[in-house]
Amino acid sequence: MKTDVLSISLNKWQEYLLSINEPKFRAKQIYGALHSSKNIDEITNIPNSLKNKIKENFETDVIKIEKELISKDGTRKFLYRLCDNNIIEGVLMKYEYGNTLCVSTQIGCRMGCEFCASTKSGLVRNLTAGEILGQVLIINKLLNGNREKRQITNVVLMGSGEPLDNYDNVCLFLKLINDENGINISERNISLSTCGIVPNIIKLADDGFTVTLTISLHNTLDSEREKFMPITKKYKIDEIMKAAKYYFNKTGRRVIFEYSIITGVNDKKEDAVRLKELLKGLSSHVNIIVLNEIKEKKFNKTTKKEAYKFLGMLEELNVSVSVRRQMGADINGACGQLRRDYLGGN
Ligand code: SAH
Repeated sequence: MKTDVLSISLNKWQEYLLSINEPKFRAKQIYGALHSSKNIDEITNIPNSLKNKIKENFETDVIKIEKELISKDGTRKFLYRLCDNNIIEGVLMKYEYGNTLCVSTQIGCRMGCEFCASTKSGLVRNLTAGEILGQVLIINKLLNGNREKRQITNVVLMGSGEPLDNYDNVCLFLKLINDENGINISERNISLSTCGIVPNIIKLADDGFTVTLTISLHNTLDSEREKFMPITKKYKIDEIMKAAKYYFNKTGRRVIFEYSIITGVNDKKEDAVRLKELLKGLSSHVNIIVLNEIKEKKFNKTTKKEAYKFLGMLEELNVSVSVRRQMGADINGACGQLRRDYLGGN
C-alpha cells in the first residue's frame, strides 16, 4: 500500500516537496486543503503537474462513505469503504455542546472480548493515521455540505479496534488532529478507550499526550474479568489501576472507567464496594453502559433499571458515576455490529 495523503504531517509534506524540487510553501496549501476535507482534485491553488505527481506517489482516495443509517434518536451510523475495499464503521452523536464522532482504529480487533462484535473475526489490519483522521474529515465534509452549523467538535476512539494495539498510528493521528494547521481539535475533546494495555497507557503519558483516558473495566475481579476480557490474563486489574494512577499523576486528567452491566455477573453490592476500593486515590468517573445485545453472544440486553440500580449503589458510596445515554441501539450502535451485519456475519 502506498502511504496515504492524510497520514503525512506538514513537515513531511515540506520534505517531500523539496525532494521533487517544488516550493516549500505549497506544503501548507496542500495540508490545509486536505484537512479542510478537500480531495487532491478539489485543490485549486496548486498546478495539475504537482497533483499528478502526488497521485503517483501517494494513495489519494483514502476513505468514502459507503452507507448511512439514521436512528430514531438522531444518532447517525456510517459504513466507510477504504482504498483496499475494507469496510469500517463509525457513529455520529449530537449533543448540546457539539458533535461527537466515534472512530475506529483497526479493522476488526484481536482482543477477544466476549460481548463485543468487533472482535468476532479477529484483526484484519491496523488503520493508518490518515484513515482514522479521514473518518473525521469525511463527516466534516458531509456536515458542511448539509450546511449544518457545526463540524465535529469531539472525537472518541471507541469504534472497532483497540487503539493501544495500534499505538504509533493512533499517536500520529492524535498529533495530526490536534495540529493548529489542521482541524485543531484539542486533546481535551478526545477520549481514548482501552481494554487495558498497561505498558502503552504508561507510554501515552510519557509521550506527553493528555487525551481523556477511558478504561473498559467491566469487572473488579481478575478471575471474573478474564472470562469476558482475555487481556486480563496478561494485565491484571491491579496493574491497570496503577497505570491509570500514573496517567492521572502525569497528565492531571480524570480517568473514566467504563462498566457494562452484565446482569447477575457484575452488578452486586460487593462489586460496587470493590470498585470504590479500586478507585481510591484516583480522580475518576464511572460510566455505566447498558450492554447492547449482539447476535452471537449469550448475554441478554441489560435493562436501564438494572443500570440505575448499580448507579444507586455507587452513589451511596460517593463514587462519581453516570449511566451513559444509550444511542442508536436500533441501528446496531455498538462496536462492530453494523460492519458485521453488512459483511454477513452471524
Ligand atoms: N478496544 C477499546 C475501544 C473499543 S470498545 C476498548 O476496549 O475500550 C468501546 C467500548 O464499547 C468499550 O467499553 C466496550 O467494552 C464497549 N462495548 C463493546 N461491545 C459492546 C456491546 N455489545 N454493548 C455495549 N458496549 C459494548
